[in-house]
Amino acid sequence: MRRVSVFGATGSIGQNTIDLIARAPEAYRVVALTGGQNIARLAADARRLNAEIAVTADEARLDDLRDALAGSGVGAAAGPIALAEAACRPADWVMSAIVGAAGLVPGLKALEQGATLALANKETLVAAGPLALRTAHTHGGTIIPVDSEHSAVFQALTGEDRRAVERVTLTASGGAFRDWPLEKLHSATPEQAATHPTWDMGQRITIDSASMFNKALEVIEAKELFHLAADQIEVLIHPESRVHALVGFTDGAIMAHLGVHDMRHAIGYALHWPERRALPVDRLDLAALGQLTFRAPEADRYPALGLAYRVIARGGLAGAAFNAAKERALDAFIARRIGFMDMAEVVARVLDRLDAAPGHIDAPFELDNIVAIDHLARCEADRVMAQRQQ
Ligand code: NAD
Ligand code: MG
Repeated sequence: MRRVSVFGATGSIGQNTIDLIARAPEAYRVVALTGGQNIARLAADARRLNAEIAVTADEARLDDLRDALAGSGVGAAAGPIALAEAACRPADWVMSAIVGAAGLVPGLKALEQGATLALANKETLVAAGPLALRTAHTHGGTIIPVDSEHSAVFQALTGEDRRAVERVTLTASGGAFRDWPLEKLHSATPEQAATHPTWDMGQRITIDSASMFNKALEVIEAKELFHLAADQIEVLIHPESRVHALVGFTDGAIMAHLGVHDMRHAIGYALHWPERRALPVDRLDLAALGQLTFRAPEADRYPALGLAYRVIARGGLAGAAFNAAKERALDAFIARRIGFMDMAEVVARVLDRLDAAPGHIDAPFELDNIVAIDHLARCEADRVMAQRQQ
């Protein structure tokens, strides 16, 4: 039996992961499931899958979790330290599907145990790519990407000589405002931004899709995972979301990965890797679809995308600063304190300020430095937003 843990079990990726695991209960022993505020779901899944332990990120909810698990034999714990401890429990396969920088430490701890880390939490690679890869290398852990584009690239590269890769194309749906008039974007609301044209995902990543901060994170993620130069990574808007990524090789050939938009494909690929096994996803009907279209993203509609290339050019810990500033700006947008187009401006100003304060971004790739710059970037984002309101 494979020992598996799911971090962020109550979210969109987590629930899709549990769906696959629950279909073959005889094949898996569930070690840890973790969640946030949705105690009822966490407890119900932990009971159903007979997990060793369930952990909520919120310490104030520990009693609720204990009550919900009473008599089940499933352990209960709460808080960031409990999350890190749960990641240290021996497991063969760990899903990293917490949203945001909070997913970093559990993922690193799982890699330190030598686990196979199915990585949906793109923030891990954006904030700490070299550290995550080094941790995996040192402890015999393995990272399998779950982001659909990166899973697609990973699959297209299987059996290929990586030196023959010329470029990688990440596709993007274009998000909720793809076809809106530009001038309307300033007044877009969080509810409007949280409506995705094709994928069904958590609220934060859906808003990040509308702004293309999600794609910006994915450009950096691709650079870290596949050791690409910035000019080898291209983004194309592909409204149908059926081609998840393309890899172009030095002989002019392009390998594309196609499928329906169901995250259980990428999750299942990571779960069964290195094998490819049957999955309960719909099959793509190209004749019914008729056509697949592509176009270049407009720079003024998606300023976040340009910031990704700036971050890559800057190097060092700029990715951690970028992600943290983005998370803070997103919090402010969701709370209606700043507008939709202000998010990229706030993040750009945080990067300006950190560039002007040498030392922080060029500190070595150690966890303490990453945590410090994450904190600093959040404070700078708050300062930038406070100044704007004056
Ligand atoms: P979600 O919001 O649906 O779920 C997030 C999970 O993280 C929940 O279980 C929540 O309880 C937990 N969580 C939130 N804040 C936490 C904190 N501070 N500490 C610990 N746990 C916390 O998000 P999602 O859409 O499932 O996305 C999860 C990750 O996967 C993100 O990094 C996202 O970018 C990535 N991803 C998601 C999709 C998708 O289709 N949903 C696709 C590609 C990548
Ligand atoms: Mg993606």
